[in-house]
Amino acid sequence: MRQTTSSVATIDRLINRLVASERPILFGHERPDGDAVGAALGLMWLLRGLGKRVTVSFADPLSANLSFLPGAETVADLPVADHDLIVALDGSDERRYGANFSAALNDPSRPPLIAIDHHKTNTGFADESWVDSRFAATAQMVYALALQAAWPVDQRAATCLATGCVTDTNAFTTDHTTPELLDAVASLMRRGAPLADIIREGIALKSEADAMLWGRVLATATIEDGVAYALSRLVDRNAVNASEGDGSGIVSFLRNVRGVALSILFVEQEDGQTRLSFRSNPDTDVAALALEWGGGGHAQAAGATVALPLDEAVAQIVPAAKRLVSASHTDSGA
Ligand code: AMP
Ligand code: MN
Ligand code: MN
Repeated sequence: MRQTTSSVATIDRLINRLVASERPILFGHERPDGDAVGAALGLMWLLRGLGKRVTVSFADPLSANLSFLPGAETVADLPVADHDLIVALDGSDERRYGANFSAALNDPSRPPLIAIDHHKTNTGFADESWVDSRFAATAQMVYALALQAAWPVDQRAATCLATGCVTDTNAFTTDHTTPELLDAVASLMRRGAPLADIIREGIALKSEADAMLWGRVLATATIEDGVAYALSRLVDRNAVNASEGDGSGIVSFLRNVRGVALSILFVEQEDGQTRLSFRSNPDTDVAALALEWGGGGHAQAAGATVALPLDEAVAQIVPAAKRLVSASHTDSGA
């Protein structure tokens, strides 16, 4: 499954929309990661460079790992007000952008909505979309758009865009780390993006609570039939004063255990639901599995939130994951 609406003409249409706007508002997806924030702040600096009044809105606060980004302090959960263009970045469907975005979508007098995204599960919710799952990051797409538009890219924009490229490839360790992605990052470095600092700040640095939570979550890990899973329980997060996003790196860590094809982190939510974070190795595609459970994502990294308590989510999803691993290995051996 691959999805693309890429063409010079599609990108030109988006460039024209952006150039024509004077007061755009940029949204990235909820619980924002480095790509959502890097793409949004990168585009903010590009558009500010063209003299526009730009607002960046996120439904959730930025994690500490992203506070180093230039412009991070300007981000808030802001409604669409007197804006003349809405831009949606890095989220595959309209429910991923939070309440202010949904409110705007339901308002018949809203300004036009454009989307830039690299998820193959993108639903095409915007008036005009550029979706291309060959890109490793939405930030890489924003950079390609800036180059096609011949806009100036200053050090602030370069730093934000490089951060999206670095974080979505988990520092160049995923299989969508292409020569094109490395070219883009090299070019952003030449424009001043501090690569080593970005990797340390954006990925490696952890809070003490996060480090302490790893111990508790890893103690719940089970590895069976090519599937590794672990639980982030409220009681454990509370015990070490960790937040919901802490421990999120564990799912990638478990994917890297020898013999594991698919890993899952089950994150217990305050409201009784369970958030699922999936990772897989190249023979196994977790995007379809996440989609089945109402979420989405990429072949090797996907997620969903299910209206099931933690133990029930484990009871239903682990067998489905094992079936997927078994089918994937039968397919690839055939
Ligand atoms: P995570 O495991 O939260 O880091 O998410 C991995 C990937 O799955 C990201 O690219 C997300 O964009 C995507 N994803 C996570 N949760 C959802 C969801 N509820 N709906 C759609 N996509 C999701
Ligand atoms: Mn993202
Ligand atoms: Mn992304």
